[in-house]
Amino acid sequence: MNPIAPFSRRQFLSDASRLSALYALAGSLPFSAFASSVTPSLLDDPRISRTPVADAGFASVRKIGDGLYATISDTSKGIVTICNGGFLVGKDAGLLLEAYGSVPGAAFQMDTYRKATKVPAPNALLTHYHFDHSTGSAFYGANGIQLWGHAAVPKRIMESYVVLQGADRAAFLAPALKRIKDAKNEIARQHAQGDLGAISNLFDLVNKNPYTLPDHPLDPAKLPMNLDLGACPIVIEHFPGHSGTDLIVRVPDQKVVYAGDLVFSHAYPACFDEKCTMSGWRKTLQTFASWDKDTLFVPGHGPVCGQEGIRDLRDLFDDLYLQAEKMHQAGVPLPDATDQYVIPEKFKTYAVFAWGFCIAGAISKIYAEMVTG
Ligand SMILES: [Zn+2]
Repeated sequence: MNPIAPFSRRQFLSDASRLSALYALAGSLPFSAFASSVTPSLLDDPRISRTPVADAGFASVRKIGDGLYATISDTSKGIVTICNGGFLVGKDAGLLLEAYGSVPGAAFQMDTYRKATKVPAPNALLTHYHFDHSTGSAFYGANGIQLWGHAAVPKRIMESYVVLQGADRAAFLAPALKRIKDAKNEIARQHAQGDLGAISNLFDLVNKNPYTLPDHPLDPAKLPMNLDLGACPIVIEHFPGHSGTDLIVRVPDQKVVYAGDLVFSHAYPACFDEKCTMSGWRKTLQTFASWDKDTLFVPGHGPVCGQEGIRDLRDLFDDLYLQAEKMHQAGVPLPDATDQYVIPEKFKTYAVFAWGFCIAGAISKIYAEMVTG
């Protein structure tokens, strides 16, 4: 089947409002280096191996439990994997998480998996459809590994990324370049410049890597779902917030949660998605905070964290709301408000993948929520 058939590239590219929304809100790849793959306060946690079981620079893999591994990316050393993920191994089978930002990224995780165990891994799961988690999917397709994901993932990948394959790069980047040219001040210009870098990378990655769409859709209405790999119970759950397609993989007996992009650790969350809901995401984080105090979270980006990471992220959401509400009350129009947010001292060391992706997206969503009540 021609995967392009249901969509017309020309139609997509001429949809100015859609594209301008993408430019306004799409952001950068996480280029900032994270100091460590594990939050320093967790380095003595007995579940976490002191040394990685594999380290490719752009990503390292650590054991974080019995049969549980976390793949943590460092994008300052290359945009191969880009996001975090990992794998779970039981007596009977294993489950790979994420397809990463490129085919070599998914291959790196598979190599590490094979070094760690002889147990077969017939399935892989995408926590959501975003390109930095899905663009290496052809690796699984080529290796006969079934790909699981939220039921909306295939459609969202088609609409967002497959339509860009073979598209005109200059035309695609033109609106981002125009934003730099038209910037009202130096801060707005820097934000727009960062966004251009991100959009360029997105375009290039999507054009370099073919996609295999998930062939095992998970209907969110039928979740949570229990998974038996021949070890302790595993639960796959859907929560609202980041992309409308977000799944987590939870191992309650070991207090480990693979959270996908519902958790950003030591980083501003990416809030650009049309299905991103800030209020829904806040509720999701409230739920995560209610889980055991010793829960380990493998975030979508940034170091492995504990409940302190959830607390910090909730504080960050509070700050985004506080500043957005103040600007809204003062009558600051949205196009200015998105550039006027000030990163507080507490979050100065946090990675901002790109202003548009993260902060402008968050302020826009919060403004919209205030209008709709
Ligand atoms: Zn994402």
